[in-house]
Amino acid sequence: MSVPLRAVDTHCHVDLYPDPTATLRNLSAAGLAVVAVTNTPSVFPHMRDFAAEHDCVYPALGLHPELALGRSSELALFDEYARTATFIGEVGLDGVSDDPRTREAQRRVFTSIVDTCRNIGGKFLTVHSRRAAAEVVEVIGPSFPGVVVLHWFSGSPAIAKEAVARGMFFSVNPSMVGANSGRAILAVVPRDRVLTETDGPFAKISGRAAVPDDVLSCFPGLASLWHVSPDEARQTTLDNFRDCLQRLGVV
Ligand code: MN
Repeated sequence: MSVPLRAVDTHCHVDLYPDPTATLRNLSAAGLAVVAVTNTPSVFPHMRDFAAEHDCVYPALGLHPELALGRSSELALFDEYARTATFIGEVGLDGVSDDPRTREAQRRVFTSIVDTCRNIGGKFLTVHSRRAAAEVVEVIGPSFPGVVVLHWFSGSPAIAKEAVARGMFFSVNPSMVGANSGRAILAVVPRDRVLTETDGPFAKISGRAAVPDDVLSCFPGLASLWHVSPDEARQTTLDNFRDCLQRLGVV
C-alpha cells in the first residue's frame, strides 16, 4: 500500500466491470482497498491471480445464491479452494424466487458452505440475505468461528438485533445510508459492527455503476447518524475492518 489505508469496500464484484484493471487504477494511491467477491468457485483462481498483482485487493471465494441451482456441482471446487481462501463471498440465500427447487438448492449450497467454513475456521463471510434474513441468521447459527458480514442487509430491525447478538457485522453502501429503511437498521447496529461496501457494478449511483471509490460517499450519512465528523465515521469503519482481520488472525 503506497499510502495509509483510509477505507475498504468490503463487497464489490471487481471481475464484472468491463475493465477491472482500469476500475482499480489509483485505488491504492487513494488509500482504498476492496474485497473482490466472486459468484462461482470456477472463477476464483482468476481473481486470486489478479489480486496477486494488485496490493489493494482481497480475493473472495463465492457461490452466489442466484446461481446455486445451476452451479451446485461446483461445491467440491468450493471446498478445495476454501482450504486457503480467507475471504468468502458472495454467498447466502435469496428469497425472491418462490420456486421450491431453487430454494432447496440455495439452502443446501449455503448450508454446505457454512459447514465447510465452520470446520476450517477463521473465514470472513460477506453474505447476501435479501428476503431471507431470518433464514440466513438461522443457518449460520448462534456462534460462528470467524467473521460474518451481512451485506446490504434489508431484513427487519428485530432480525438485525438478533444478528448483532450473534456477533455479526453489517456492510453498508451509499444507497442504504441514504434510505429510511437502511437508517432504521443502522439505528440498532452498534458502530463497532459497521463496515462499508459498494456492491458495484450491480449497485448504481446516479444512474452509473458504483465503483470502489464510492465507499467514501457513506461517511457523511454515517457521520450524521452517529453525531461525529465524516472523518471519524471513516476511521471507525476502518478500525472495524482491522478488528475483523485481527479476529481472523490475518494481522
Ligand atoms: Mn453482490
